Amino acid sequence: MESIRSCIVCGKKLPKERFLRIAKFKGGRIEISPRGGRGAYLCSDGECISEAFKGERLAKALRVKGKIDADTLQRLRDELEVIRKCEEK
Ligand SMILES: [Zn+2]
Repeated sequence: MESIRSCIVCGKKLPKERFLRIAKFKGGRIEISPRGGRGAYLCSDGECISEAFKGERLAKALRVKGKIDADTLQRLRDELEVIRKCEEK
């Protein structure tokens, strides 16, 4: 059985394997991870990724209190870019 999730930006519903997943783990560490922690799902297209990093959308989706620090956001964006480039090949 497939688990359906929706994108935190556009709300599109797809099986969770089709999304990128960002997860917040105990202690507040945020990683791109297919499982564990509290997850936020994102379409792999560029628009949803850039929207997710605007304002506090990602912080809200992950239930982070306040803002996610800039270094973490940059690291996540870099990692997402790498993943997207791999998937395009
Ligand atoms: Zn989306």
